[in-house]
Amino acid sequence: MVKYVKDGREVEIMTQFVRKLDHMGRIVLPAEYRKKTGIDDLAEVRITEKDGKIIIEKLSPCCKICGTEGIFNNEMNVCEDCIAKIKAL
Ligand SMILES: [Zn+2]
Repeated sequence: MVKYVKDGREVEIMTQFVRKLDHMGRIVLPAEYRKKTGIDDLAEVRITEKDGKIIIEKLSPCCKICGTEGIFNNEMNVCEDCIAKIKAL
């Protein structure tokens, strides 16, 4: 955000960056946005398109099977419910 005073009022506007995609369609996300959104190096992100705009969101850790958010203490990152269902098969 950039703040400035206009007609005696403080106005905030979104910082905008212009980037050029490389020949493979890649861009570098501005460090300011990565810091603000908590998107660290090697983070997983969800990319969606809506109304002609591309939305990039930090992907929260979640169960790889059902999508329940959380950090699970196993190598597969699978929730207890899914582990129980797999064992019952
Ligand atoms: Zn699960």
